[in-house]
Amino acid sequence: MDCLFCKIAAGEIPSKKVYEDDQVYAFYDINPIAPVHFLVIPKQHISGAAAVTAENSAVVAHIFEVIAKLADEMKLTDGFRVITNNGDDAGQSVKHLHFHVIAGRKFGWDGDNAG
Ligand code: 5GP
Ligand code: ZN
Repeated sequence: MDCLFCKIAAGEIPSKKVYEDDQVYAFYDINPIAPVHFLVIPKQHISGAAAVTAENSAVVAHIFEVIAKLADEMKLTDGFRVITNNGDDAGQSVKHLHFHVIAGRKFGWDGDNAG
C-alpha cells in the first residue's frame, strides 16, 4: 500500500522521532502549528477514526497512554490538545490514523485551528 505514514513508521521515509514501541510511532509534524506539534500513529495501517473497530481499537487506547507519558516527560503542564481529523471536510490529508498533539500556546475553539 502506498501510504506515507506506513512508510514513516517503517523508517522508509525519514522523520524526527519522538517515541516508538512495537505498536506506535510518534514524530514531529513537518509543518508545526504550535511550538510543540507531534503526531502519534499506529504502526498498523488504519485509514482514520472512522475505521476504528472492536478488533483494532486497543491501539487507540495505547496511543492515549503514550500521549499521557510523553506529555509528562515533555512537561506540558500548561495544557495540550489532541486532535484527529477524519475525512475531507475535517482536512484529513493523510489517510492513516494520526493524533496531533499540540502545545506551547493558547488555543481557542473556532473549529478551524485543528491541525
Ligand atoms: P491531517 O491534515 O491529515 O490531519 O494531518 C497531516 C499532518 O501530517 C499535517 O500536519 C502535515 O504537516 C503532516 N505531514 C505531512 N507529510 C509529512 C511528512 O512527510 N513528515 C512529517 N513529519 N509530517 C508530515
Ligand atoms: Zn498507512
